[in-house]
Amino acid sequence: MKINEIFKSIQGESSYAGLPCVFVRTTGCHLRCRWCDTAYAFHEGHEYSVESILQEVRRFECRFVELTGGEPLLQEESPLLIATLLNEGYQVLVETGGSVPIKQVDSRAIIIMDIKCPGSGMDHTTLWENLACLKDQDEVKFVIADRSDYDWAKGILNQYSVLQDKIIHFSPVFGQMPAKELAGWILEEALPVRFQLQMHKYIWDTAMKGI
Ligand code: SF4
Repeated sequence: MKINEIFKSIQGESSYAGLPCVFVRTTGCHLRCRWCDTAYAFHEGHEYSVESILQEVRRFECRFVELTGGEPLLQEESPLLIATLLNEGYQVLVETGGSVPIKQVDSRAIIIMDIKCPGSGMDHTTLWENLACLKDQDEVKFVIADRSDYDWAKGILNQYSVLQDKIIHFSPVFGQMPAKELAGWILEEALPVRFQLQMHKYIWDTAMKGI
């Protein structure tokens, strides 16, 4: 597998935010979201076997692991890595942009799937069939750039009943969408979603990698 970085940090973008977590960031993504904050993972990386990734993960002595990217599900061996981590007793989160089939992922993993809003420039890439593959424990995230993204996301929630019993996150684009404004809209309309900040960006220097 081509891996960009393996590091331990605070999980920042799901209902597991705040927990210590080992991140395995794969190299490569076929999308180009306007607000992408991990463009350094598009090309940089080194080849690892599944076993050598496991060796790195074990060093951190943390039972919570997130596979992220880039787009981790582009890598052929990601399903094997996920299953191997689960078999070793790790709790595994998989963060995906929603444009690659998730049905290949071991059902014990927790998927955090983005639905790309128009403000990302990538809304045409969502694989809507993925919604039918979401399991009870999976979560969905909308990254909101402005009011029209917010209204669009509300429309998607109304359109797809499968989303009604899922944990849904609305997260403002860091440095672009004022958090207060998004929080205000959610409160005004009593929208049943979780407002979410990218916690790690408030802890560490955002120019750093491995956060
Ligand atoms: S899917 Fe993720 S890694 Fe790919 S361009 Fe969008 S934000 Fe960046």
